[in-house]
Amino acid sequence: MGVEIIAVGTELLLGQLVDTNTPFIAQHLADVGIDVHATHAVGDNRERIAAAVSQALERAAGVITTGGLGPTVDDLTKEAVSDALGLDLERHQPSVERMEAIFAKFGRPMRENNRKQADLPRGSIVLENANGTAPGFVADAPGGKFVACLPGVPREMRAMLVDRLIPQLRERFGGDGRIVTRVIRVTGLGESEIDHRVGELLRVGENPKLALLAHDGTCDVKIMAKAKSDAAAAAMIGPIEEEVRRRLAGHVYGTGDESLAEVILKLLRERGWTLATAESCTGGRIAAAMTAIPGASQSFVGSIVAYADASKIALLGVDDEIIARHGAVSEETAMAMARGARDLLNATVAIATTGVAGPTGGSTEKPVGLVWLAAQSPEGSGSLAMSIPGDRGAVQARGTQAALGFVWSLLRNQRGGEAARPS
Ligand code: ATP
Ligand code: MG
Repeated sequence: MGVEIIAVGTELLLGQLVDTNTPFIAQHLADVGIDVHATHAVGDNRERIAAAVSQALERAAGVITTGGLGPTVDDLTKEAVSDALGLDLERHQPSVERMEAIFAKFGRPMRENNRKQADLPRGSIVLENANGTAPGFVADAPGGKFVACLPGVPREMRAMLVDRLIPQLRERFGGDGRIVTRVIRVTGLGESEIDHRVGELLRVGENPKLALLAHDGTCDVKIMAKAKSDAAAAAMIGPIEEEVRRRLAGHVYGTGDESLAEVILKLLRERGWTLATAESCTGGRIAAAMTAIPGASQSFVGSIVAYADASKIALLGVDDEIIARHGAVSEETAMAMARGARDLLNATVAIATTGVAGPTGGSTEKPVGLVWLAAQSPEGSGSLAMSIPGDRGAVQARGTQAALGFVWSLLRNQRGGEAARPS
């Protein structure tokens, strides 16, 4: 059985506040193997909060709420939970004393509405608030179920969830199980293609469990296993990881939180090679991704952002004939840009991008989203046309990831010439 999450706050329903607490809670529960079956948002209304809690309790083993624990009149979560559970609120004296100490420390007077924050449903387990005044709590519900209430302020909620609530829930939900997660990072394949290749593995039982997580132009395959020990869980992941890697061969660039830029830098270092970029539609984003990695200067030499045709000619030495004949967004121009950057920046490898980012400037022949990538290296050159759906931001972001993926696959297929590789 799983749990349901209820985020409380009228601001959420008005679209004035983006609910970041629910995903945070959901992710941390998933990490310890607790299933979330539904999430909800409800306004600061006592009856509606109580109804949401009661209904969720009919379906789930427990309910976790966030928000509405503060001292003001619109903070009604405790009252609503006490209505839903038929439990009176009782003042929790140790929490009052804790709050008194905090107020004394900051030299502020403590009001009755602050004391009210220590009124908790009878019999609750108190969750101390390390970053604020209002305590959270876990109240008992009929049938061995529970309602856990966390504050709304993210800093307070996060610490309380991770340090106080999760350890209790682990005990409640079957004790000492360990969850091991392995993330396999994939480039150059769309989410639907990955799903097509590994899809039925996703359905082979629930443990280990597979999930796909698409980002802009890359995708993660997440494998989660639950077992008595970390070693046992890792052993369960082994064979399925191998099968996933086999089915996605040539597209797995890393594991965990490794980025493409990191992996590229590693491959460049191994070969003693350097990289330069010539960027039009990506506007320097490839360079930004490379330079985000500490130590990039060892292998990343620089970038020329050449946006206007005139800059491609003046800065990269692209022949104006090429642009006149084939257009700025073309394989030929991309190739010439890469050659120019490689020569000018004296790099071993260069990658170039040129595309139609939109929303205007597209044509039937060259629609918005068309991006040409070209790379030059000591062991040959390559180019790739992509058609990227979405708005300008998506074309730029995914064009950047695609270019990084292109560099990665080029490096991975080129061993590095003897001359370039110190032995
Ligand atoms: P307080 O003691 O500050 O009143 P609280 O527990 O009563 O805390 P809320 O009043 O519901 O919490 O929310 C306080 C603030 O915390 C909100 O104004 C908002 O900035 C943030 N917050 C609340 N809920 C969420 C949420 N679900 N996601 C992100 N931020 C949130
Ligand atoms: Mg509040």
